Amino acid sequence: MSPDLERLVRLQQLDTTIEEARRTIAAHPQRLAEADARLREANERVESARQRLKEANDARRALEKEAAVFQARVTKYKDQLFEVKTNREYQALQHEIATAQSELSAVEEKELERMLEADQLTIEIKQAEAALAARQKEIEAEKAACTREVAETERALTGATAARAELFTQLEPRLVALYDQVAKARKGIAICTATRDGLCSVCHVRLRPHVFQQVRQNDAIIQCESCHRILYYAPPPPAAADTAATPAP
Ligand SMILES: [Zn+2]
Repeated sequence: MSPDLERLVRLQQLDTTIEEARRTIAAHPQRLAEADARLREANERVESARQRLKEANDARRALEKEAAVFQARVTKYKDQLFEVKTNREYQALQHEIATAQSELSAVEEKELERMLEADQLTIEIKQAEAALAARQKEIEAEKAACTREVAETERALTGATAARAELFTQLEPRLVALYDQVAKARKGIAICTATRDGLCSVCHVRLRPHVFQQVRQNDAIIQCESCHRILYYAPPPPAAADTAATPAP
């Protein structure tokens, strides 16, 4: 491959590395925010279960007070039974007692429901707390990995940027200008391979046979006629060549 073409290929690799590094670094705050959001979610599940337990307990205490009122009423009426003079009064009191008793039973039943609910919620809280603890560990590890990755990426970025500047000193200004112009117009990809069957590997346009022939020589700057990217040819690796075709003698 001609030195110019080699440098352009290298330049493209560096630019791709730089672009990916910038994207990774730019995505870092978002990734941290997402991890925090998942932690908050687990935390909210614990808080919500705790809140529901508090409500169930408050409701149960209110029902206990209500039950005490009915219980007192039943006791009072039962005491009064000893003081009544007529059968009619006695029956009226019996009726009051039955009513208070059934109200008491209804309240006690609700109390029991709240107690069962509280038991269930206590289990739920334990599970949510365990899930939160696991999530905390997971997210700490994730954040540490993310931070390490960014530090590595920053180093790679610095290295690639320096290598790029160095490469620039070795390239003719007209080639740098051509590269920049195509890269700007083509989403950062200024140089690409021609496929083994003679297509531009990015825009997939078929190259004219004599153009493809020239590209295969890898010794001149040839642009795709359709997307204007600079083309080069990467021969298939030997292993692939062995299985694909019998090598020429
Ligand atoms: Zn093309």
